[in-house]
Amino acid sequence: MKLNAVSKNLHPRNVFRISRAARAEVRNIFLEISAEGITGRGEASPNAYFDETAGNVRHFLEAAAPFIERLEIESVADIERAWLEGWPWLAPSRAAQCALDLALWDWLARRKGTSVAELALGRPARPVQSFCTIGLSSESELELKAVELSGFPLIKMKSDSMADLTPIAFIRKRTGATLAVDANGAWEKIDIQAVSRELARLGVLFIEQPLSPARDERMPELLAASALPILADESCVTLEDVERMPGCFSGFNIKLVKCGGLTPALVMARRGRELGLRTMVGCMLESSLLIAAGVVVAQETDYADLDGAWLLADDPLTGLPLRQGVLTPGPGPGFGVEPAG
Ligand SMILES: [Mg+2]
Repeated sequence: MKLNAVSKNLHPRNVFRISRAARAEVRNIFLEISAEGITGRGEASPNAYFDETAGNVRHFLEAAAPFIERLEIESVADIERAWLEGWPWLAPSRAAQCALDLALWDWLARRKGTSVAELALGRPARPVQSFCTIGLSSESELELKAVELSGFPLIKMKSDSMADLTPIAFIRKRTGATLAVDANGAWEKIDIQAVSRELARLGVLFIEQPLSPARDERMPELLAASALPILADESCVTLEDVERMPGCFSGFNIKLVKCGGLTPALVMARRGRELGLRTMVGCMLESSLLIAAGVVVAQETDYADLDGAWLLADDPLTGLPLRQGVLTPGPGPGFGVEPAG
């Protein structure tokens, strides 16, 4: 299999800059592998939080060329084996592992003339209701976002270290959406019992990642005190982390680029369910390619938070529209998305 990894800069639409400290650009890696005249595509959205950069992802993928060139992929079992055997080449980059894993799934499904969902789950992907996220915003920005998201069924709001409820109450008044609140680890000094009760009154469904992962030992106490379910994001990165979740969190947010692709994400979703946990599939700022892989995982999770491509001004792939908060996957082949233009 031949490979070609390129990086592309992606930009959020103005209204949806990620946070007040507006990150105006991300640099993602797009991997193409080809054999037998078929091209499979994968993507990684490297995140500095996990010490990943586009440069290191590309470096590890190119360094793994001898491994990738030798791959012979004829079945899902071959993809699962490649996921394990490729790790010594790609470690410590789960993002690089994700890009390769997605490209192999896309390639094999295209070779078989089917969709990745059919290949992975034995059934076509159904449409998925997704949370759309509102970052920390000024009042005038909130007003614009409330208009943009009117009629959307699920809205996730970022919260700061003060757990200020004003923006949540503001959005509550303007939409009938189900809300969730993501603290991104900032609630070190917050009384979770009091705040979670207020949030429950505002119709919030769950809280995500109240404390930094370094404070996980406090989570059993917080979970017991909370009036709402608490989902892990940064505290649950890979498959091994799932086993630590019961008693600490009510569930967890799976991100393909954190765990190393579709292959482990599906295992995490199934294991979470076996453990009686709520599961969600989330995303970074990423193109419709990574989002399409998230939609496959969403077939097996309770919630989806897959607005990453919808937030972009310049999605380089097309074929997976998000309308009124609903992602409608195409029939394929592969992930069902193609280069735009
Ligand atoms: Mg989060």
